[in-house]
Amino acid sequence: MLYLIITVTTISLISIIFLTISLALHYNHKRYVSFVTKNSVSLCALKKINSEFTFYPFVNFDQSYTYDNEDYYENISCEDYLIYQLQFQAQKITAQIKKMNRNKIEYSKYIARLKILKLGDFSAPIGKLKRTTLLKIENKLYNEAKFEPPPMQFFLTVTLYCSQINGRIYASKYDNFSGDIILSLVKRLNNKNGTYYRDREIWDAICRVERGKVSNKMRFSIYERDGYRCKRCGISQRYAKLEIDHIIPISKGGKSTYENLQTLCHECNVEKGDSINIFPR
Ligand SMILES: [Zn+2]
Repeated sequence: MLYLIITVTTISLISIIFLTISLALHYNHKRYVSFVTKNSVSLCALKKINSEFTFYPFVNFDQSYTYDNEDYYENISCEDYLIYQLQFQAQKITAQIKKMNRNKIEYSKYIARLKILKLGDFSAPIGKLKRTTLLKIENKLYNEAKFEPPPMQFFLTVTLYCSQINGRIYASKYDNFSGDIILSLVKRLNNKNGTYYRDREIWDAICRVERGKVSNKMRFSIYERDGYRCKRCGISQRYAKLEIDHIIPISKGGKSTYENLQTLCHECNVEKGDSINIFPR
C-alpha cells in the first residue's frame, strides 16, 4: 500500500514539475512573441505592405466532353473543342487570363517592396530578452505573414472521351493550353464578318465539333421521331440506308439540334447536298 502511495505521489510530483516548466516556457514564449509583434520594424512594415496588395484566386475552366461516336472522337482534336467552347466562354476565360497576368505583375512589385526590409530592427530596447530568440521568432512570424505566391499562370486542359453507347469510356485524349495560346485563338475568333468567321481553320474546327454533337443516342431518337422513314421520299429503313441530315447545313450556320435534324435516305441526302430544304413532316 505504502509503495503504491509513494509511486502515485512521485508521478504527481513529476507531473507538477513538468507542468510548471512548460507553463513557464509558454509564458516566456508569449512574452517574446508579443515583444516581436509590437516592436519589430520589419514585421509592422510587412503588415502595412500586405494591406496594399490583393491577388486573384485561381478559377478552373478545364473542359471535357464525351463522344459516343468513335468517328467524331477521332476527327475532333482538343483544340477544335476549345475553339468551339471559346465562342461562348471567351469573355470569362480572357478575364481570368488577365487576372493571372496581373497577379504576376503585382507579385513582383510585392517582392520588390519586401526586399528593402531588414530583420532584427526593434523599436524598443530588448532589455533582458535574448536577441537570438527574438530573431528566431521574428523570422518565423515574418515568414508566416508573408504572402504565398498567388497563381500567376493560366492553363486550361481539354479532355475528350470516347464511350460506348451505354456510357462506358474506353478511350481519352487531352491537351493543355496556355493563356497566350488561348488569347491568340480568341483573336482569330474575333475576326468575323457578321456571323461568319474569316479564319478558315477556325470555321472548320467549329463545323467539326458542331457535326460531332450528333451523338448515337441523338441519332436513334431522331430516327424514332421520324418513324424510321426518309422525310423526303418516305422510304423505310427496311429498303434504304437512313442518314441524319442537318436541315440548315452546318456550313451555313446550322446547329445540331433536334429541330434542325431530320432523317433522309442516302440518295435523298446526296441529292440535297448543301442546299437548305425543309421537307414536309
Ligand atoms: Zn429518300
